[in-house]
Amino acid sequence: ECLELERFVQDNDVESKPVDDISSICKSLDLKGSIDCVCDGSGIAAKDFGGMQSVRALALIRPAGAEDVALIVKAAALSPNLTVAARGNGHSINGQAMADGGLVIDMRSTKENHFKLLTINGSPYIDVSGGALWEDVLKRCVSEFGLAPRSWTDYLNLTVGGTLSNAGISGQTFRYGPQTSNVTELEVVTGKGDIITCSETENSELFFGVLGGLGQFGIITRARILLQPAPDMARWVRVVYADFEDFSRDVEFLVSLPAGESFDYVEGFVLVNSDDLVNGWPQVPMDPTHKFDPTLIPPNTGSVLYCIEVVLNYRKTDPPSTVDEAVSRLLGQLAFVKGLKFEVDVSYAEFLLRVKAQEEVAKANGIWDNPHPWLNLFISKSHIADFDQAVFKKLVKDGVGGPMLVYPMLRNKWDNRTSVVLPEGDIFYIVAFLRSTVYPKGPEVEKLVAKNREIVQVCREKGLDFKLYLPQYQCQEDWKRHFGNQWSRFEERKRVFDPMAILAPGQKIFKRRV
Ligand code: FAD
Repeated sequence: ECLELERFVQDNDVESKPVDDISSICKSLDLKGSIDCVCDGSGIAAKDFGGMQSVRALALIRPAGAEDVALIVKAAALSPNLTVAARGNGHSINGQAMADGGLVIDMRSTKENHFKLLTINGSPYIDVSGGALWEDVLKRCVSEFGLAPRSWTDYLNLTVGGTLSNAGISGQTFRYGPQTSNVTELEVVTGKGDIITCSETENSELFFGVLGGLGQFGIITRARILLQPAPDMARWVRVVYADFEDFSRDVEFLVSLPAGESFDYVEGFVLVNSDDLVNGWPQVPMDPTHKFDPTLIPPNTGSVLYCIEVVLNYRKTDPPSTVDEAVSRLLGQLAFVKGLKFEVDVSYAEFLLRVKAQEEVAKANGIWDNPHPWLNLFISKSHIADFDQAVFKKLVKDGVGGPMLVYPMLRNKWDNRTSVVLPEGDIFYIVAFLRSTVYPKGPEVEKLVAKNREIVQVCREKGLDFKLYLPQYQCQEDWKRHFGNQWSRFEERKRVFDPMAILAPGQKIFKRRV
């Protein structure tokens, strides 16, 4: 049995690897971009948001575009052991964008490339670089064209290539699917160093392989993203539940309503039933004028509460009464705790950039750069009540020092030709434990990592149908179990598109082949 969700323990064979002569590689490459030797293990190539792993790359390369990326991959292929990791914005948790003794490509250097608006069959699309940040895509699309992508992540300081390599999910996923369901064409540099344009109809195996492909089959240098008119405003509402059954029935009802009859964004989270600043009631109000009145919580309520968070988008020209009516018609059908309803009106961009405001506070408090032992799981609807009993109500009943998200998504909005694996059933939930660490005031990181492992272990013991999102495993046996009956497809895609296993070594799925 190999260990998962654990700090990476360096293999001996990694240390005994011959160190490639980086200067001769640099000389042989004729890049438009630049190369930094990072032999001392400092700098961004050895860092990520998780803050729990650090391995030394041979060089950090800032390509000018796809041609440079292809040259780098081809140079690596000539060596017996070099690997190549595309680094988006390094917001992985477990070193997924690192390359031990390999070449790290800083995709951010290509962020300005493309950015071209197109109309295809009457619909607007934007071509952006794989190294563009979603925040910049939002700002530029809204300000230059009054348009916006349909499907988001909660936090936008992530690259297009980084989220498309996983899925890219948020409160719009129930309606439009993950971000991987909202791109129609990619330009990809494969593990053979070929620059290939792919879509549903052209090189489709590469297109679907790369989407959710954990960087294993190619480096995304351009993505074509479907756009829609950007709304102006967001009516942002939170309602609190004491009972999980009421919460899950209502949140599933909201995501199952037809488009145009529901909210534009639906998420949910678990909070501790206490006045704890980080984990408890103060998490719910969105405005200093909001007061959370705990006397409204029914007596005999347990250790945790649940919150549904929804948004209705609208235009400034919409009469206020139509917004009020639509919101109250929907809320009127829900069984939240009377009086525990909070709402604000913010601009559309302000809503989408809401986590950035939290980032600024965490940076000011000095905790943003601390380790983040996060755990994300997809859990089948049929097992979410069991998960609530075993995990929310027991293992994490005192909170995790950060948000605990739980909300449903519809499987039919996901394309099963992509590389993402999901639990069975028409509806499944994302559950995210977004832990922050405040050691030495709080527990050591190792203890929190062990708690994550315990959660996964409980899911296994209880036979719950689940998959890790942003998965991280240490050995191929575990990866095989993760992919289940999709493993042979995944392996075949690797054999075809990256036969020497050069790409994304930080995922630890395949070993470099000569
Ligand atoms: P990196 O961490 O740099 O890379 C991730 C992986 O993708 C690596 O294996 C890397 O080699 C590969 N990769 C990077 N760029 C490319 C490319 N151009 N082509 C091919 N492979 C590439 N996820 C959600 O779905 N929803 C959320 O709401 C959400 N919120 C988050 C909030 C925070 C604060 C953080 C830290 C993460 C969040 N995530 C969320 C997770 C995030 O989507 C993933 O961690 C994603 O991989 C990070 O993007 P990145 O650009 O930093 O990628």
